[in-house]
Amino acid sequence: MTGIALKLDPNAAQTVAPASSDARVNLFELDRVGLEGLFESLGEKRFRAHQVMKWIYHRHVTEFAEMTDLGKSLRNKLEAASVIRPPNILFEKDAADGVHKWLLGMDGGNAIEAVFIPDKGRGTLCVSSQVGCGLNCQFCSTATQGFNRNLSTAEIIGQVWVAARHLGNVPHHQRKLTNVVMMGMGEPLLNFENVVRAMSIMRDDLGLGLANKRVTLSTAGLVPMIDRLSEESDVSLAVSLHAPVDDLRTELVPLNKKYPIAELMAACQRYAAKRPRTSITFEYTLMKDVNDRPEHARALIKLMRKVPSKVNLIPFNPFTGTRFERSDEHAIRGFQKILLDAGVLTMVRRTRGDDIDAACGQLKGQVLDRTRRQAEFKRKLEQGSEGEQHAAA
Ligand code: SAH
Repeated sequence: MTGIALKLDPNAAQTVAPASSDARVNLFELDRVGLEGLFESLGEKRFRAHQVMKWIYHRHVTEFAEMTDLGKSLRNKLEAASVIRPPNILFEKDAADGVHKWLLGMDGGNAIEAVFIPDKGRGTLCVSSQVGCGLNCQFCSTATQGFNRNLSTAEIIGQVWVAARHLGNVPHHQRKLTNVVMMGMGEPLLNFENVVRAMSIMRDDLGLGLANKRVTLSTAGLVPMIDRLSEESDVSLAVSLHAPVDDLRTELVPLNKKYPIAELMAACQRYAAKRPRTSITFEYTLMKDVNDRPEHARALIKLMRKVPSKVNLIPFNPFTGTRFERSDEHAIRGFQKILLDAGVLTMVRRTRGDDIDAACGQLKGQVLDRTRRQAEFKRKLEQGSEGEQHAAA
C-alpha cells in the first residue's frame, strides 16, 4: 500500500459512480458514437466530434478554449453542455525498474490503482475496472479490500489518458503506451458495458489507436459474459485459471463453483472459434505446494489441448496476511518445462514493480467496502497475530 491516509466514510458507498453536482456530461464517458450523438444533438456536424477526440486523446487537452480549430460559438456551446474531467491523481510513484503506479481518487474515500510496465519494445498499462472486487479469489490482495462499485467509462479510459499524458504518448508516432491489459483491480466482465465502451476508445484511431490484439481483457471466468464479449468486442482474452481441476480451482477462485472448468473451457473454445488466428492466454499463479506440482502441469496440458492457447505463469506475489507462498524457482522452471516439452507455449511473467506493491494481485487502492470482507480479513489477521503471540508466550 501507498501509506496515504484517506478519510473513509462508509455512508458514501454506492454501486455506481455518484452523480456529480455538475450536470454537464464528462466527455470521457463517450466513445466515438456517443460523441457524434452529442454533437448532433447540439446541431453540429459529426466531424467536429472527431476533432474534439483528437484534442483529448492525441494532444491531452482538456480546455475547450485551447481547441483552436473550433469556432468560438461552438466552444461556448461545448462549455455549457460538457466538461473534460480526467481522474484526480492522489499519488504517483516510480519503481526502480521503471514501473510507474498511480493512485487515482474516485469519490469519497475510494481510490484505484493503475500501473505502467515498460519492457523491451513495448509498454503495458494495467487498468482497473472496479473499486475493489467481489470475487474473493483467495490469493489476491484486492479481494481482501472487498467491493464498492463499478468504475464508469470515464474512470476506466481516464486511467489510460493519465498514463498517456504522463508518457507524452502520441498515437501512430511516438508511442510508449503500446498495450493495455484489464488486469488491475476488479472483474471487468462484471462491469461489461463501461469496460467495452472504454476498450472501444482504446482501439479507436481517434482515441489511443491500439490494435485489437494489444488490448487484453482478463477474467476469472464468467462464462455467459465471455460469450457476450465474443459478440460485442474483438479484444484479446485472458482467463485466470490457476488450477487444472475443479476442487482446487473452486478453493482458489470461488467463482469456479458457478462456472466449472469444463464450462469455462467450452466458452473459451467458442471465443477462439470466432477468431481463427488468435490464441487465449491462461494465467496461472504458482503457489508453493498448492498448484505447482508436476501432476498439475500434466493436467493443465490436457486442458490446453482443447483451445489455441498460451500459458502465462505468474509466480505468486505475497501480501500481508496471506497464507500462500511463492513457488521456488526450481518448481517454476520445472512446471514451465513440462508444459513446453508438451508443445504448450508457456511464459513466466516476471515480477515487476514489487518495490512499490505494483505487481499482479498487489493492487489495493482504497475501497469503501460494502461487503464486510475488509473487516473480516482484518479480524482474521488480528486473531492470527494474537495466536502467534500466545504461541510465543
Ligand atoms: N478479475 C480479473 C482481473 C484481475 S487480473 C481476473 O481474475 O482475471 C490479475 C491477475 O493477477 C489475475 O490472473 C489474478 O488471478 C492474478 N493474481 C491475483 N493475485 C495474485 C498474486 N498475489 N500473485 C500473482 N498473481 C495474482
